[in-house]
Amino acid sequence: MNDTIPSREMLIDGRFRDAGETRPVINPATGEAFAEVALADAAMTAEAIAAARRAQPAWGALAPLERAGYMRRIAAAIRSEAEAYARLIVREQGKPINEARGEVDGAAGFFDFFAEYARRIQGEILPSDHAGEQIWIQRVPIGVVGAIIPWNYPFALVARKVAPALIAGDTIVLKSHEDTPLSALAMARIFQAAGLPAGVVNILTGTGAVVGEALCNSADLDLITMTGSVPTGKRIMGNAAKNLTPVSLELGGKAPFIVMADSDVDMAVRSAVTSRYMNCGQVCICNERTYVERSVYDEFVEKFVAASKALRIGDPMEDSTDLGPKISRAELEKVEARVAEAVGEGAEIVIGGGRPENPPHPGGFYYSPTVITGVRPGMGILKSEVFGPVVPIMPFDSFDEAVSHANDGRYGLSAYLFTNDIAKIMRTVNEVAFGEIYVNRVGPESLQGFHVGYHDSGLGGDDGSHGLETYLRKKTVYVNYSGAPTSALMPYGG
Ligand code: NAD
Repeated sequence: MNDTIPSREMLIDGRFRDAGETRPVINPATGEAFAEVALADAAMTAEAIAAARRAQPAWGALAPLERAGYMRRIAAAIRSEAEAYARLIVREQGKPINEARGEVDGAAGFFDFFAEYARRIQGEILPSDHAGEQIWIQRVPIGVVGAIIPWNYPFALVARKVAPALIAGDTIVLKSHEDTPLSALAMARIFQAAGLPAGVVNILTGTGAVVGEALCNSADLDLITMTGSVPTGKRIMGNAAKNLTPVSLELGGKAPFIVMADSDVDMAVRSAVTSRYMNCGQVCICNERTYVERSVYDEFVEKFVAASKALRIGDPMEDSTDLGPKISRAELEKVEARVAEAVGEGAEIVIGGGRPENPPHPGGFYYSPTVITGVRPGMGILKSEVFGPVVPIMPFDSFDEAVSHANDGRYGLSAYLFTNDIAKIMRTVNEVAFGEIYVNRVGPESLQGFHVGYHDSGLGGDDGSHGLETYLRKKTVYVNYSGAPTSALMPYGG
């Protein structure tokens, strides 16, 4: 592909299709448009759903190993042009190239990982109440999936939704985010080149207000899986409820990062820095609020500030860049508003607190690494998600206090603990109400884990066998092979 931008046509029913309306794609590092994509309308969305519906029975009827064959070809195709895909991600999303390479590798990993389930989707055999009868429960495809993704991992999140759907025997209609459609279009070309039958995967570019609404109001989807923000997740669930369509929602986070005095403080600092600044702080599992035991608080803040100052803000296409731009002007302004709110509530800015004086490009959406102290429980900066390179650091005096801070909020996705005390580790596991607990390490989550958030962080989850379960449903089968009628009694009234 070599830095070529995929053509703007979307994949519907095995064909590439344009639409009348278009939207520019902006490079966050420069603020300049560099491509145009088509915007699907409600009718095209309905066509894509109908194509997926037509394609599903034959796709679901293939031997899983045959479906896995397509998936392995997709993984190989991703790897074969990994650098070009990484560069495309950087251009439309702005993460540093090293991180984009990791994203591409992760995307291939989803296809390889779920292909392994070809021989692992199992059922159960149960004893019958009647002689000469067999009962079993088998897993079958859920059917047609609607998938909606955000902009922060525009390539890997396509894989995270499509790979489990394919091995389960489902067909899928996926909508990319408005700001990052090109990665999904590149994937569409990979799917087509891998020879997937028409309609098995359909990729739409378009807005949430048109394509997203059309998907979520459709009476012909069997599952809606969405990764994105809490307000959108709630709206999707409301729309899906009208047709009783099941939803799986991976929403926001406000991860607490607890550092105990007994931990290796240098390792905790390094990890806290990585976990806050990766992808310019635009990750649902990012360290969003750091709590440090008071006896090591000053040391921690000093080292964290030094490490933050050492980060190289730059052109995300350069290997040496640690921190690239935010995704868009709107998202940059959201971060500015959160920091202004914190200052208004009495917090202190230790470093940063605004756009860099000499950004790598004047039009880029850059924000400086920002460390905030003087925060108190209840402040907005400790409660609302800040998708940016901004971290409040707060001291605590006891482990109980740290647990209580961690649980103080509506989000429940990821939580971090740095300690060498097994009792504190176990208490965190038991008492911190988050779906993912990282002890003495940072993310990302593993393929075989279960990426699951509690409370406002979502419903359902992705990855591993539990994530795959979302894409399957169960069927109970009763087979009478006795040659005689089974009991005429109908104990439950039929
Ligand atoms: P967003 O909610 O604005 O958009 C997500 C997607 O929903 C987009 O594709 C958008 O077009 C679509 N959408 C918007 N309105 C819609 C509607 N009415 N009906 C259907 N679809 C609609 O979120 P975002 O700004 O793209 O992403 C950032 C958020 O995603 C953050 O809160 C972040 O924490 C979260 N996120 C969560 C995870 C996770 O796994 N839990 C991973 C990445 C990002």
